[in-house]
Parts: sequence; C-alpha cells; structure tokens
Amino acid sequence: MGRAKRVSFGPLFVDAGSLTMTSFAASEVALAPAFIEKSPLERYAAPAQPSLVGMSRELLAQALSEVGVPERQRRMRVQQIWHWLYVRGAQDFDAMTTLSKVLRGALAQRFTLARPQIAAEQISVDGTRKWLLNLPGERADAPHEVECVYIPETDRGTLCISSQVGCTLNCTFCHTGTQRLVRNLTAAEIAAQVVVARDRLGDWLAAQPPASAGGVRGAAHEPEKRLVSNVVMMGMGEPLYNFEAVRDGLNVVADGDGLSISKRRITLSTSGVVPNIGRAGAEIGSMLAVSLHAVTDELRNQLVPLNRKYPIRELLDACRNYPGLSNARRITFEYVMLKGVNDSLADAKALVRLLKGIPAKINLIPFNPWPGTKYECSDWDQIERFSEVIFAAGYASPVRTPRGRDILAACGQLKSASEKLSARERLALRAMAMTD
Ligand code: SAH
Ligand code: SF4
Repeated sequence: MGRAKRVSFGPLFVDAGSLTMTSFAASEVALAPAFIEKSPLERYAAPAQPSLVGMSRELLAQALSEVGVPERQRRMRVQQIWHWLYVRGAQDFDAMTTLSKVLRGALAQRFTLARPQIAAEQISVDGTRKWLLNLPGERADAPHEVECVYIPETDRGTLCISSQVGCTLNCTFCHTGTQRLVRNLTAAEIAAQVVVARDRLGDWLAAQPPASAGGVRGAAHEPEKRLVSNVVMMGMGEPLYNFEAVRDGLNVVADGDGLSISKRRITLSTSGVVPNIGRAGAEIGSMLAVSLHAVTDELRNQLVPLNRKYPIRELLDACRNYPGLSNARRITFEYVMLKGVNDSLADAKALVRLLKGIPAKINLIPFNPWPGTKYECSDWDQIERFSEVIFAAGYASPVRTPRGRDILAACGQLKSASEKLSARERLALRAMAMTD
C-alpha cells in the first residue's frame, strides 16, 4: 500500500525496508548543538461542522446550548450523549434513541460524529496495529497526520496516542524531532484517538469483539478485559507542551461513565518539561514516564536538547516531588539503547545511582532506526548486560529478554502477508507498552 510506506515519521515508527544503517564512532554523534524548540507553523482550523466526538462535558453542554436546549435540560442531555459517544460508540445521531427526533435532527444540522480518519493501517502478525490518522488541516486537501498504535498483550491492550502533529522539541534520535511542528492536537482530537481504536477493534460495549482481535466476550464491563485497556501518551509530540489539551483530553478518556480508562492505566511520557511535571501530577494525575536516556548532562544535552533548559538534577527533583509518587505509583524512566553512545555498563551503574531514592521503574527501549539517523540500536547482548545491572539493583527486568529474542528470531522467519511491521519496530513498540 503506497500510503503505508509513507508512515515513517513517528518517534517509534519507520519503514525498516528503507533503512540504511550507517556505522559511526560515538565521538561523531550529534556534536553540533541542536536548537531546543520550534514554534507552531499552523493552527487548528475548526471544520465548518464540528464533531462532537472527543468533546468534554463542558463542550457538549455548549453544543447543546447552540442548538437551543434549555439550560435545565442540558446536564441530563449531556449525560445521554456521553453514553452514546463513549460507551456505545454511536456513529450516527439516529442511533441515539434516548434523544428526541427533533433534538437529533438539530444536532445533525449543526454537528457531526466524525472521527479522525484512518488513512493507512499496518498490522503485524502479533496483532500490533499502527494507524496513520488524518486530522483537519487549514486546507481541506492537506489533512494533518498523526500516528496511533495498538499493542495487544495477554493481560492488557495498550493504545499509544499522539499529542501534537510533529513535536515542539528536537531530540536527535527521534524521527518526529526532525519534523517541523505543524500544530497541537485539540483535547477532542486526543480523546478521539481512543474512539477510533475502539471503532476499529469493535471494542464498544454494544459490540462483540471479533475473535481475531483477541476479545473476551461478555467481559466488557471489566476494564482489564477491554481490548483497549491502557493508554500511553508516547506517540508524536511532547504532551507537556500542549498541557491543557492533554489534560482535558485525558479527562475524557478517564471518565468512568464513558471511555473509562482509569488514570492508573494512563501513562504520560515527557522528555522533561520540568515546570509542568508537578502540574501534570496535580491536574492530570496519570502515571508518569520520563525520557531520561542519559546519565550526564553533557550527553543528555546532545540527545534531548531540552536538557539545556532543564538539566538532569532539576528534572529528578521534579520527579521526586511528583504528586502521588509512592512504591505503588512509580515513575517509569525510559532509556533508549543507542550503540556506543549511552549503553555501557558504567552508564547502567550510574543510572541506578542517579535514580536512588525515587520510586522508579526503568524501561529500556531498543532504538528504532529511521532513514538518515546517525544512531544505531545497541547489540542485543549489550542490552541484556545492561538490563542485568538494572535487575541486580532491584528493578524488575526491564526488557523481557527471552521474549524479545523470540520476537527477533521469529520475525526473521515471518513472511505472512499481514506482517508489515519490522522486527525492531515491534520490539520497540512492545517495550513501550510498558508491561511489567
Ligand atoms: N515526547 C514524549 C513522548 C513521545 S516519544 C517523550 O519524549 O517522552 C515516546 C518515547 O519514545 C520517548 O521515550 C522517546 O524518547 C522514545 N523514542 C523516540 N524516538 C525513538 C526511537 N527512534 N527509538 C526508540 N525510542 C524512541
Ligand atoms: Fe521525539 Fe519526544 Fe523528543 Fe518530541 S520530545 S522529539 S516526540 S522524543
């Protein structure tokens, strides 16, 4: 599929077929100072007929007032529509049978139930699905694009969602970082990614999950049995540079009367926007993941240029003060494994020392290369050795070594037509699903 070939710009996702691996010396890597931030190039342009999908209760109440629903009725009507949108996954106003025909007609005149459209889909043999979503752009013929990935596992299904088209920041190992930012997602677009996934997977209460998607029939009321049971904000973008929209969007996702993915099952990943970390704990209250990737400021300045603004010490102080932090609610520290750059055993030991005293998990992510990158993924043996140091220090083994090996081995042999994701890409995605 020609379109799918273009899906090569997310932080995690590349068409490995087009990769050319370059060898390099560690000293050559990213010595030129990268600039820290970009500014948005385009704004969100609301469609003439806005969609209700992804809207918060407040926005729905406003929408109802626009079609003349008197204030005293609005709360009840919002609750009804909420149920249709986020429990039933209604795609048509006519399905909303608890609303009068007149109200349905009035809503349909002014609003739609449009979702971000899936422009391309890649499916892996293990059920991992990657979607390229179209969002409204300033010009109708040039939609904005973000990626969204679904990663099924035995005990959960994790949806990886985006917060921006492109990214404000410029991490040197990240493909999204090389893109010019187009714009922030709206809160509704953030929540709508969960709606799209539930549509595609048949994961609504009214629907029977297809057996092929691993659905458990009759278990729809138990959150852990839903196909989409967890959300990680690890797609495109830096969520803490789009704070209000992320907060409001995740509140829609977490609402117990709707999409119902609790905050304990939502993880927000940040590259370290220190001033907003405490705020995220207080106003969002999800689990937190921090993209650390290096143990010295010198190296982190190169990998995550934002470190020049908020160095490691400040970042870790903000983590120590993260509201609600405890051994039961640990911060996940992400560490991308870059060959010859940050993957020595001395780095592993320093990492353990650095995190001492912080209730933490460590997530080693195999680097997922992209065309033109100067980095390579660490050798598997080195990832294992690194992970053993982490394990010996009392952290759960962060990379599921045998399984990872199985995946790598198995993937070399997989020639099924549905196998569209590369072995390394799947491995990176699995690491990011953050299964304990
Ligand atoms: N902007 C946020 C969240 C999106 S990126 C952040 O940086 O945390 C999600 C994770 O993927 C981050 O830990 C990021 O560092 C990592 N990542 C980015 N590019 C990657 C690549 N090519 N291979 C592996 N991990 C990558
Ligand atoms: Fe990529 Fe995250 Fe860095 Fe943005 S902040 S460039 S998405 S790693």
